[in-house]
Amino acid sequence: MSDILSKQEIKELRKDFPILERTVYGLPLVYFDNAATAQKPLPVLDSIEKYYREYNANVHRGVHRLSQEATDAFEEARKKIAVFIDAKEEKEIIFTKGTTEAINLVASSFGKQFLHEGDSVLISAMEHHSNIVPWQIICEEKKAKLKVIPFNEAGELRMDEFDKLLDDTVKIVAVTYISNSLGTINPVEEIIAKAHAKNIPVLIDGAQATPHFPVSVQKLDADFMAFSAHKIYGPTGFGILYGKEAWLNKLPPYQGGGEMIKSVSFEKTIYNELPFKFEAGTPDISGAIAFGAAIDYINNIGIEKIHATENALLQYALQKMKALPQIRFIGEAKNRSGLISFLLGAAHPFDTGELLDKQGIAVRTGHHCCQPVMDIFNIPGTVRASFAFYNTEEEVDRMLKAIEKASKILL
Ligand code: PMP
Repeated sequence: MSDILSKQEIKELRKDFPILERTVYGLPLVYFDNAATAQKPLPVLDSIEKYYREYNANVHRGVHRLSQEATDAFEEARKKIAVFIDAKEEKEIIFTKGTTEAINLVASSFGKQFLHEGDSVLISAMEHHSNIVPWQIICEEKKAKLKVIPFNEAGELRMDEFDKLLDDTVKIVAVTYISNSLGTINPVEEIIAKAHAKNIPVLIDGAQATPHFPVSVQKLDADFMAFSAHKIYGPTGFGILYGKEAWLNKLPPYQGGGEMIKSVSFEKTIYNELPFKFEAGTPDISGAIAFGAAIDYINNIGIEKIHATENALLQYALQKMKALPQIRFIGEAKNRSGLISFLLGAAHPFDTGELLDKQGIAVRTGHHCCQPVMDIFNIPGTVRASFAFYNTEEEVDRMLKAIEKASKILL
């Protein structure tokens, strides 16, 4: 395990995030909703302004100087992202609106080409809605079946059930690396190895993993991975689909339009090569450039150090929260990361969240786009505190005080 950031280093790094200095209801903000979206450091904000102020132009289209500068910065970002997830080739990095669009792309294009009546798609019971609904849509269209790997009471996938469900009808497996509602880190290496032993490709939802620790798509041997820039200190509305070149070449385009073609006539259109085949229309140019800036920022700190720092804070928070008998943890996997989902006695999570908010603590409340998970636990939702490297033990202490105050009112 790598060193953690010192208190002084965190203090210095926090200065890069102007929003962390603001107050809510006259109190200093404690931002514990990083799993929903992380805050953005100054170099990311500056990169967006610089693009629009100094070299705003469309990409890949112009010979003029501004267009070349924009194209260079845009493609430079693709290189940084490829290195960040250890992809073999830059062309395996497809720019999308985010995790959601990346999964929709695979579900739609893969489904069109490879799903037939009687086939099935295997997902898990802890998926975000964005890794459920796109598969439901294509399964319905193709008369295929959606099968679901269950989890145990701690929120760990039942791998014995996975083995049974992975039969010859399965054409693709799509699972999350880390659950955004439970914090469980799933054994994706094992899932991928077992699926590959049967020649079944695997899509990994990397939305909650990529912000926290190094993810190598080559080491995992993932066929597809989806993730979002905004959870990794980058801009909203921008994300990535990683796909192995061989798979991406086999899939039909997702959307038609400019950029994704080599030539168009009314008789026949020739599609562009990778990655452009999947990038129809003018892309989010500033989004790509700003995500590149976010990756530079993370690399300057070191993702291993970020992981170790967040893990130390998670353990600190868990240990303190375990001392409060009114807290019920939802999700107690041995292998977990980044977040704590909980309930306060019989109190509704919205009430707890509101009382924490009034004390300056921003946590997420609700089903976290995982209604099936809440149904399994038979609860309306949870309160979720999720951490980033810029969070501190003092902030956790403030949340604990706020929880005790909320308990006095609600319980
Ligand atoms: N999957 C997981 C595990 C997530 O946590 C999220 C965001 N909450 C998504 C998918 C969807 O990401 P986006 O809204 O950025 O497309």
